Amino acid sequence: MESIFFGVVIIAGLILLNRFFPFMPWTTLEWQSLPTESEYRQLHPSAVKNDISHCVYCDSVQQFDFPAFNPGVVHRKVLCAKCKKPLWRVTLE
Ligand SMILES: [Zn+2]
Repeated sequence: MESIFFGVVIIAGLILLNRFFPFMPWTTLEWQSLPTESEYRQLHPSAVKNDISHCVYCDSVQQFDFPAFNPGVVHRKVLCAKCKKPLWRVTLE
């Protein structure tokens, strides 16, 4: 029971930390290190089949995007839904 409580406290703490310090340098650097989708396609031409971007690691076509800093923020990274590796970055308008 206590370990669940500590888990909730830690998660709440991380959410608050992310909210108050949304532009933490390490998340910014990780996001900046990712290519855009067109760069990803140029970097991994074998991962593009029938104009669909596949995961370069596991060949999955399922992806989901994830906020790079906190929910609703314009910088998002696209991860492979299968192997969860970051693939490319997205800037929402
Ligand atoms: Zn994958």
